[in-house]
Amino acid sequence: MKTPSLLIVLSGPSGAGKGTLSKLLVKEMPNLYCSVSATTRPKREGEVDGVNYYFISEEEFMEMKAKGEFLEWAKVYDNYYGTPIKKVEEQLRKGNDVLLEIDIQGALQVKKRFSKGVFIFIVPPSIDELKRRIIKRGTDPQEVINKRMSCVQDELSYVSEYDYVVVNDNLETALEKLKAIITAEKCRPHRQKICIE
Ligand code: 5GP
Repeated sequence: MKTPSLLIVLSGPSGAGKGTLSKLLVKEMPNLYCSVSATTRPKREGEVDGVNYYFISEEEFMEMKAKGEFLEWAKVYDNYYGTPIKKVEEQLRKGNDVLLEIDIQGALQVKKRFSKGVFIFIVPPSIDELKRRIIKRGTDPQEVINKRMSCVQDELSYVSEYDYVVVNDNLETALEKLKAIITAEKCRPHRQKICIE
């Protein structure tokens, strides 16, 4: 019996801690590949092309979209983001797990194509804490922060589309919960059956 590979989708409001949790998860799980998205958003200080994102022009993005090179794509806060499908399929075929850190619109598209994906919503302990984290991060101008904050209530209304909700009030605890979810998902009978040869 092979260990089934999982497609794991993490969503949640900006500042909920998805990025930090993804990095920690990848460090602890050797067979977990974190997908690198393409985006038209300007690079933030410290970000590296090909590591944090593939930073591309809107023209390049539209070309990739037209060629069907995205598993999903969405316009988020005025910029385009998309998951290149090739690497995701490659990694799943190799038997690795794949982690996507994407917005809700993208997650809903993935759900249609990969119904066996594991969909996890990360929430902050409170709206005030969320605002504090975004401001502390110091990477976004005030108008971007305002825009992101104004989307939060709407984003939270999509929680029921997900399989799990993890409150990120403490990084260590949230990480343990994510690892427990992955472990449990790998034990589910419908995943085992497809692997018995
Ligand atoms: P940021 O600009 O802060 O890196 O990301 C903004 C939002 O875009 C976050 O909610 C992030 O999860 C989402 N995002 C990042 N990459 C993708 C992607 O490939 N597809 C979709 N749909 N959303 C993405």
